[in-house]
Amino acid sequence: MNGFSPQRSSPQGSGQRARGEAPATGWRAAVKRATDDPQLGLISFFAALIALIVLPFSIYRFTQGQVVVGIVDAVIVVAVSAVGIVAWRPGQTARAGILMTVVATTSCLAVSLLFARHGLLWSYAVLTTNFLLTTRRMAMIANVTVFAILGSHPEVFANHVERAVFLSSGLLVTLCAFIFSLQSTRQRQALEHLAIHDPLTQALNRRAFDIDMANTLQTHQLSLSPCTLAIIDLDHFKSVNDTFGHEVGDELLIEMVRTVRIHLRKQDRLYRFGGEEFILLMPDTDAHGVQRALDGLRERIFQTLRRPDGQPVSVSIGAATLEPDERGAFWLTRADAALYRAKNGGRNRVVMADQFDPPVDQAVDRRGAVHD
Ligand code: GH3
Ligand code: MG
Ligand code: MG
Repeated sequence: MNGFSPQRSSPQGSGQRARGEAPATGWRAAVKRATDDPQLGLISFFAALIALIVLPFSIYRFTQGQVVVGIVDAVIVVAVSAVGIVAWRPGQTARAGILMTVVATTSCLAVSLLFARHGLLWSYAVLTTNFLLTTRRMAMIANVTVFAILGSHPEVFANHVERAVFLSSGLLVTLCAFIFSLQSTRQRQALEHLAIHDPLTQALNRRAFDIDMANTLQTHQLSLSPCTLAIIDLDHFKSVNDTFGHEVGDELLIEMVRTVRIHLRKQDRLYRFGGEEFILLMPDTDAHGVQRALDGLRERIFQTLRRPDGQPVSVSIGAATLEPDERGAFWLTRADAALYRAKNGGRNRVVMADQFDPPVDQAVDRRGAVHD
């Protein structure tokens, strides 16, 4: 559960599409995909930009009778365009980023070796953009390759001073790009963390749940692997707040999440659904095994959580195992109905939902949200 990010939606973003919203088509779909996947947008932009910049040079060279140079430029245009197209194939964006780095670095080496001084100027653009196109590791390898090949070539530089100036300025550009890339990765990770975690307990939040619920249903339809959803609700929590104050209540929520985390398997995911209610998604679990596991969790919480006056704090748990072709709303409502029974049965207990607990037309959870 720790460090878990909700599965990303499909490249088209259909996993998060609102009910009833028509899927985007044509240009709009392409723009949406490139916006949803910034790396795809960047590679496409880079491919288009390089093709548009180098193409006029290529034509100009041919018109001047410089056939070899014209061919080199034309090859660069074709190669970046091809990689730009590969990037749009499903699941190929990261690979296209590596390919684009290889193409850009090779082109930079080719023009530098062929045309020395003015070819060298392109290398600064490549040394920087490599960090935007692929991983820092790959970009470093590409940049070091540029330094090694150009730095050791006898004819690229007029003298040692020119070589030293190129290597030190290139290294400076590389280090700046590296630091910028590191910082932006960290900031993106921090933002992603904030977007999907509850700030108080650090459990995953409702947004993460909605994304994962859609993905779980999709996966289940394909593989029919069993999955259980459990709602955990603290018993008589309001009286804790009323008696000891809100801060003590907050501490109990944090402590409960800590306790649940210790008990969970790696693939289980815990979400704060609202207030003092949490949801556990437990993949690869069926009704038989899961009841014992949840009862162990309930007991662990009962043994661990204490009010300031030493009284134990219990939880009630309602759980339901996903049925074939079941809708998310119905699954959630069955678990909710089981929780209701656990509360009515005296609290501090686990109740498993029956297969067809609530009537289908009640397949909207208590809070009015609908999950397909
Ligand atoms: P039950 O056993 O039936 O679940 O009773 P309960 O008192 O736990 O449930 P009820 O729904 O009556 O009250 C839930 C309480 O949870 C009310 C609200 O003040 C408290 N609560 C919700 N969110 C937070 C929070 O973030 N921090 C604290 N301290 N309390 C919260
Ligand atoms: Mg409660
Ligand atoms: Mg509640």
